[in-house]
Amino acid sequence: MKHLLAIDQGTTSSRAIVFGETGTLVASAQREFRQYFPQPGWVEHDAEEIWATQAATISDVLAKAGLRPADLAAVGITNQRETTLVWDRRTGRPIAPAIVWQDRRTAEFCEELRAAGHEAFITGKTGLVIDAYFSASKLCWLLDHVPGARARAVRGELAFGTIDSWLAWKLTGGTLHVTDASNASRTMLVDIANGQWDDELLALFNVPRALLPAIRDSSEVYALASDVVPGVPIAGIAGDQQAALFGQGCLQPGMAKNTYGTGCFMLMHTGTARVHSRQRLLSTIAWRIGGRLEYALEGSVFVAGAAIQYLRDGLGLIRHASEIESLATSVTDTGGVQFVPAFVGLGAPYWDPHVRGAILGLTRGTSAAHIARAAVEAIAQQVTDVLEAMQADTGLDLKELRVDGGAAVNNLLMQFQADLLDRPVVRPRALEATALGAAGLAGLAVGVYRSTTDMGARWAEERRFTPGMAGSKRQNHRDDWRRAIRCARAWATP
Ligand code: ADP
Repeated sequence: MKHLLAIDQGTTSSRAIVFGETGTLVASAQREFRQYFPQPGWVEHDAEEIWATQAATISDVLAKAGLRPADLAAVGITNQRETTLVWDRRTGRPIAPAIVWQDRRTAEFCEELRAAGHEAFITGKTGLVIDAYFSASKLCWLLDHVPGARARAVRGELAFGTIDSWLAWKLTGGTLHVTDASNASRTMLVDIANGQWDDELLALFNVPRALLPAIRDSSEVYALASDVVPGVPIAGIAGDQQAALFGQGCLQPGMAKNTYGTGCFMLMHTGTARVHSRQRLLSTIAWRIGGRLEYALEGSVFVAGAAIQYLRDGLGLIRHASEIESLATSVTDTGGVQFVPAFVGLGAPYWDPHVRGAILGLTRGTSAAHIARAAVEAIAQQVTDVLEAMQADTGLDLKELRVDGGAAVNNLLMQFQADLLDRPVVRPRALEATALGAAGLAGLAVGVYRSTTDMGARWAEERRFTPGMAGSKRQNHRDDWRRAIRCARAWATP
């Protein structure tokens, strides 16, 4: 039996996972790497360290699984998105640390772009909102601040890439300079209608074409690896959230997945035409397979599992995140408490950076359990806000929500989510959706899977949470939540 290797290069750790053909996880390995915070608001990674940890996890996972490179049918790459790197094509050395997606150093530049009236143009072309999050302003910053960089870029001596490009380059000993359409769509340099680098955007951000990788399908044999897993076809690339959408088998318009981690990332497949969001959700390329672009709407919740961490570390109500469910189920309701975990403002559909967190409705009878339950409910409420915005944008009716991420183990949260959405919430057997998606894209390219339909058919559920709440009660919950949001925003307003 041939195996598939997924390279899952995340923000805080590099992971490698081996799957069997049936999608069963055979072995996994993980190594953390350093986060650099040279100034307030700046976040950097050492790309050499990313590669070193990634290469080590690949060796680790093969050793654990007792496999040799020859036992692998293909390798797929999935990665932290938007993080921006420039390296020297000749030496292969980065010219500066990678600027991580979280880095805010270009916020002011983005503000200037908005003030100059570029928002409608940029959003219209890229599906993104102007923000420091995306690669374009970071790349522009590197070219402006690393001595000599712009001139060298124009002469074709430098290469730009998101982390997928860097890993593909490293795996091939510096011969392959590619990215896939999903990662490219997060750079803010691509017209997502055709999935190509766009001259007007390149001009706006002053980025020379000579820097750019070729944009390829998300599932195709790009090259054979020459390092770490020599001879193995590199056959899949996708950004982490898009890979998770694929791994969750969300292959038809209206199918959606939500990842419950520190924050939440929700993506809904919207088919082969992009949606122009009226709710300031992001429109993004889900993947390109066989030259055909498919799209997704994306919305995120900034604080989800992090609210549970706050109850643990900030308030000391629990010792481990896993204790939250039993504490929250020790009461039948929140006793009138609402918890708005807007620690860093609110994302879609509110887009309010000024609002701050609030715990409302306290009485002498309020216990730790009530606050715990309110925190769990708040995660589901925020996810419901985003899904309602997606449904309003697309007119697509969600049939079920597929879930993954660290907090998806919480049954109380999943049931409340199903109740609020009035749709089934389905947890798959394979919670490693991101890695599975990367392996799946690679497997598809080398014929381990016959088609995306074949791949989707292998998705299997572990548990289904069926909605069971009366409509009136659901409406009350939603009304209370919206009132709590209004209160928190009123407090923040100067
Ligand atoms: P990330 O990839 O963002 O680091 P993970 O997917 O690993 O996140 O999930 C970790 C998050 O899940 C943490 O914020 C943690 O508080 C939360 N979490 C873990 N277990 C539970 C649980 N049983 N109930 C609710 N949240 C949980």
